[in-house]
Amino acid sequence: MTNLPRCDFHIHTKYLGCANDTMEVAAILKECERLGVTTLGITDHLNSLDKLALHVPILEDIRSLDTEVAVYFGVELNFDGLDGNFAFGADIKEEYGFQFAIGGIHSTYLDTYDLKKLVDIQHRHHLRTCEDPLVDVLVHPYWFGRGEFDIKEWPWFDTMHAVPESYARELGQVARETGTAIEINACANLVNQNYSDRYVDEYITFLSAIAEEGACFALGSDAHDIHKLEHIGSAWAVASQLSLTPERVWMPDGQPLRGT
Ligand SMILES: [Zn+2]
Ligand SMILES: [Zn+2]
Repeated sequence: MTNLPRCDFHIHTKYLGCANDTMEVAAILKECERLGVTTLGITDHLNSLDKLALHVPILEDIRSLDTEVAVYFGVELNFDGLDGNFAFGADIKEEYGFQFAIGGIHSTYLDTYDLKKLVDIQHRHHLRTCEDPLVDVLVHPYWFGRGEFDIKEWPWFDTMHAVPESYARELGQVARETGTAIEINACANLVNQNYSDRYVDEYITFLSAIAEEGACFALGSDAHDIHKLEHIGSAWAVASQLSLTPERVWMPDGQPLRGT
């Protein structure tokens, strides 16, 4: 890991109400400094346009930081329906000062359980996300919310063998061609208590197939609590395990708002 950048480009804050009160920008920076993170990006949710104003204090807080750590201001996008869109655009990016966007699918969009359909919908949205020129990073492929499965009384998604290898390869190819990074997400995928060690091994095999197709990867903790930021170490470890070179670890374009 020594030669790979120690970055975290998926961090939530208290301002959007998804992360808890420990996730204030200054506290996040302090914990990242302790963990040896050298570059970070704050990426809170933008699920609908009415939430835009809640991002303004995040940017203000970043601007008030005094640090050597490079700090960027990003945003996490979600589809607003099965065939929906992201609540985002070039005008919004410009007006609110977002330096990059990460995005992906956060639901099964199914009413009845059908494993093949479920995987197909994810795959289709992964490719759509890669093809969106405003999205830099595809977040947590094949993460599912456990709550959705429990409420619907469905069997939990507990094996990556449900995903054909051809999907991983196609995703890797499209990611490479579109210049979209695939996320290695700590809290959603690697250290998520809902997944077994065997599942995580299968997940790393899935990421390896993507890596073999030449895609780049973004590293993110997806922390919603200050004590979860340390899990970024598991994403760094997997990046190492995939034998990524530093050029294949994604970084935003442009200068950070703070640090160097
Ligand atoms: Zn997400
Ligand atoms: Zn997230």
